[in-house]
Amino acid sequence: MAPIPSSPETVFTYGAPQLKFGSGASAEIGYDLAQYGARRVLIVTDPGVAATGAPQRIADQMKPYGVEAEVFDGVRVEPTDAGLREAVERARDSGPWDAYVAVGGGSSIDTAKAINLLTTNDGELADYLNPPVGAGRAPARPLLPLIAVPTTTGTGAESTTVCVLDVLALKVKTGISHPRLRPALAVVDPDLTRTQPAGVTASAGMDIVCHALESYTAKPYTSFERKSPEQRVPYCGANPVADMWSERALSLIARSFRAAVRDGDDTEARADMALAATFAGLGFGNAGVHIPHAGAYPIAGRVREFRPAGYRAEEPLVPHGMAVALTAPEAFRFTFEACPDRHIRAAELLAPGMEPPRDAAEHLPRALLSLMRDIRMPDGIGEVGYTGADVPALVDGAVKQRRLLDMSPRPVTEEDLAGIFTRSLSLW
Ligand SMILES: [Zn+2]
Repeated sequence: MAPIPSSPETVFTYGAPQLKFGSGASAEIGYDLAQYGARRVLIVTDPGVAATGAPQRIADQMKPYGVEAEVFDGVRVEPTDAGLREAVERARDSGPWDAYVAVGGGSSIDTAKAINLLTTNDGELADYLNPPVGAGRAPARPLLPLIAVPTTTGTGAESTTVCVLDVLALKVKTGISHPRLRPALAVVDPDLTRTQPAGVTASAGMDIVCHALESYTAKPYTSFERKSPEQRVPYCGANPVADMWSERALSLIARSFRAAVRDGDDTEARADMALAATFAGLGFGNAGVHIPHAGAYPIAGRVREFRPAGYRAEEPLVPHGMAVALTAPEAFRFTFEACPDRHIRAAELLAPGMEPPRDAAEHLPRALLSLMRDIRMPDGIGEVGYTGADVPALVDGAVKQRRLLDMSPRPVTEEDLAGIFTRSLSLW
């Protein structure tokens, strides 16, 4: 069991962006920008999303409100330090800007966060990266308004205070984390996800499921040592406000995830998934995530040949949501004993019609496995190209995500991680 703090935390915090949600919401961004007094804005997106025409349409829709927009479509999917530096250079050269609008998945939104930080504050990327990779400097000045417009349902990047990137020279995924990085406004328009292929809906949806489950089962905020105000972090552990969002997200998923994968034109199911992604983001963006997300970094990072259906990937890729999902059943089997009631409650929400198994520890893993089979997730990390021989390297990658592993309700050793990866080679 986890050690009991000598002076337990009594305070939690909750932060969230302003939210505009619903069909047609993305047509109103010009109005919202005008309220910030913005006249000249940079739209940050990737080439794939730019090809759908959505960023240019959003730019055109700003004109009646007196807002001029330029589209930058150079975002790299899975941003790297080199890619971010380039994007920041571009924004600096073409600036100054009054505000930023990110249109796309987590990569575009995270890139816009980095651009916003480094065009409003002194210093370079490395100054702000989380220690030990960077200096963990806090921005001294306020950032510009950033409006996040997610076009894939799942990442929650529109709600969070982090920017995740690969540092190429060190072969490590790290990030920048500060409350000022959080977008000022999230505009969630389910119409923008209409062209999302079934494989993308499935992986992105599993990311939502895991955001909700991991934040719901994260170490409670009261189990940490008491912090002083300047030590407070955006991710404070499971807390009553985050719990509420996670529970609601799981119910929406139970109702609509399978339908959204089966039929991309099911507008109700798609709207439910967009809402679920938003709810889960509002939860985990304050509570935190743990083992499945820590394991996902090396699973995605060490990919060799795997190419998922539905992705226009030029290079081999294990999508983030898929990478997270593949160890989730085993991770929750492992964490069960730390907070059984929460695991059981989560399973009931995720699979309301399911007969509870005799062994309560199996309830949540079974609910997950049944869902994953129905939406055609791969059968474990073996199916995306890993063997038992890769387990030590995967463990190595996961332990680098200490910040995430510390959120696990049950302390997790390298040996425990090796067991979770090994048992996740094949799930059914
Ligand atoms: Zn995630």
